Amino acid sequence: MIHSLPPLPYDLRALAPAISAETLEFHHGKHHRTYLDNLNKAIPGTEFETLSLDEIVRRSSGKIFNNAAQAWNHSFYWNCLSPRGGREPSGRLGEAIGDSFGSFKDFHQKFTEAAVSLFGSGWAWLALDRNGKLEVLQASNAGNPLTDGKAPLLVCDVWEHAYYIDYRNARASYIEGFWKITNWDFAASRYEEAVSARAA
Ligand code: MN
Repeated sequence: MIHSLPPLPYDLRALAPAISAETLEFHHGKHHRTYLDNLNKAIPGTEFETLSLDEIVRRSSGKIFNNAAQAWNHSFYWNCLSPRGGREPSGRLGEAIGDSFGSFKDFHQKFTEAAVSLFGSGWAWLALDRNGKLEVLQASNAGNPLTDGKAPLLVCDVWEHAYYIDYRNARASYIEGFWKITNWDFAASRYEEAVSARAA
């Protein structure tokens, strides 16, 4: 199976000024594409050759995991951003965030701290655990909650390549920009899907 680069769900200029067209051009067109190219080169002749990207992420390790998970994480990340994003979630996800973290403000602070303080390269995640509780997670390198049986709901890429063109070393400013374009509708749909899957 060839894993191909999904198109961005918006125009290259759509997320500016939070994220510039130049960042998206490099991040999607070069970084994300390279993970897929490396994955497609690595899997022929292995047990992963015919598996979906989800299954490869759950079952692989080493180089294949790193490239598969980076490919998965980036596709997910693009969907977590929207030119019509920002504000805060309503509905059942909004209620669940209040139940798990105290308030949206407490969640916002916890996720921001996780994203800003992650040492080196990685990802800050909001995920639903097996017991139906929401968690903020720091994941180094290509880490993904799927490998711990958790459902990813929202992610922020904190690899330097995600923000260096627009913000240089100022990761905290990039996170401020992230909150202005957070796609809560996408996170809410992932939450509903994860809750239904647990109930089934
Ligand atoms: Mn990235």
